[in-house]
Amino acid sequence: PTLLAAHHYGVAGLGRNGAAAVTALLAMGASVHAWDDRADARAALAPHDRLTVAPFRNMLGLAGLVLSPGIPHNLPSPHPLARMAVEAGVPILSDAELLFRAVRAAGSRARFAGITGTNGKSTTTVLLAHMLAGCGMPVAAGGNLGPAALSLPLLPDDGVYVLEMSSYMLERLDQMHFNVACLLNLTPDHLDRHGDMAGYIAAKLHVFDHQHAGDLAVLGDKLPDYDTIRRRLAPTRSTIACVSGADMPQCDLYCTPGALCDHAGVIADLHAVHDLPGTHNRENAAAATAMALHLGMPRAAVEPALASFSALDHRQKTAGSVGGIRFINDSKATNADATARALACHDRMVWIAGGMAKAGGIEELAPLFSRVAVALLIGRDAPVLAATLARHDVPHRIVDTLERAVPQALDSARELGADVVMLSPACASFDQFSGFEARGDHFAELVRGLATGRDGTT
Ligand code: ADP
Repeated sequence: PTLLAAHHYGVAGLGRNGAAAVTALLAMGASVHAWDDRADARAALAPHDRLTVAPFRNMLGLAGLVLSPGIPHNLPSPHPLARMAVEAGVPILSDAELLFRAVRAAGSRARFAGITGTNGKSTTTVLLAHMLAGCGMPVAAGGNLGPAALSLPLLPDDGVYVLEMSSYMLERLDQMHFNVACLLNLTPDHLDRHGDMAGYIAAKLHVFDHQHAGDLAVLGDKLPDYDTIRRRLAPTRSTIACVSGADMPQCDLYCTPGALCDHAGVIADLHAVHDLPGTHNRENAAAATAMALHLGMPRAAVEPALASFSALDHRQKTAGSVGGIRFINDSKATNADATARALACHDRMVWIAGGMAKAGGIEELAPLFSRVAVALLIGRDAPVLAATLARHDVPHRIVDTLERAVPQALDSARELGADVVMLSPACASFDQFSGFEARGDHFAELVRGLATGRDGTT
């Protein structure tokens, strides 16, 4: 592997990842040429005698270029900096690749887990890290979900890096070898960057590059072209594990309604597992478990680890309970597809939705409307959602704001005998909030206010 210290690297784009790359490269003894068009991003870099901050005129002599995840390097429209690198024969590297090189250069044999897919990456990454840490392994998790890969600490030989890998990061790997790697699912997404579905799949498959016998490749059972992907992996001779969140005994790990199983029997009773609701989260749990077992987690430790997992914020996370009614924050659900998964998890709920509706609105949720005792609608497009609900005879009220929705939801839940209030907006938040996090935080704060007897309004 390349010894970083002797090398000169370029870093283009000084966001969270780029800035961490500069710091880490300097710390490892490399010299760095960095640039960002934004003066404030440049100003945030601390001066260093091995750091040059200047626009790139050419890339000659660079051992690699770290390009901000937002800068496209491939067709149809590669950024001029990417073109300059390609012309100079300089590899474009993600910070995950640099982490791998740095760890090996430091002499550590720590293992790497790589997790990718269209949905469920963050949950699976954090869950796997939680499982491994719970049985005493040194673990560092990061990558796409943050912290940036290069800001992770150096781990000893028995450590495991758990990295969430976006397709952009995967296209910028060179020597990275994931001992366990997982491709959860693939639905059309980011096609603007990858041209077409074949390009998107090809990018995701890089997570398995350099795998060999003794490694583990985890595949979600709902992958399109599952058989083709399996065949493509055959030459690596890694063990392939098919995982499913549904009752699919033909998979290596699958979930009956109450248990996570493999061919040897029940691995974990799921009745005590609260923060992984829905088939999609069971798929994430099955994937994380397959990887954890391969990395040496004892089978008996799986169930307590799943039960003690706490969901990521804003993804069907319990915000609080008032008088036996559970308030769930699923603010991350900014489209109908994501909300469908939340509605499918409960038989009867008060549903808080609305904001800026996406194309297609909430029509596709119609098969789940029977679970909604009443819908309380907020935000700009509340009337659009109301029209759909009216067409399907679903009880609903336009309440405009979360401040009104939360206390009314409690009253309605009591009145209608629902034990869940679900904020799963199926809409973007920018009409009323700075983002889904602010929306979810505000909801949680209002729920806390209810629980302590304040109404939460300010
Ligand atoms: P990512 O990091 O890939 O965006 P997250 O773990 O943050 O994924 O989950 C985001 C949303 O995607 C969740 O709120 C849920 O609606 C949906 N989701 C999670 N896991 C899956 C899965 N395995 N299959 C389909 N959808 C999922």
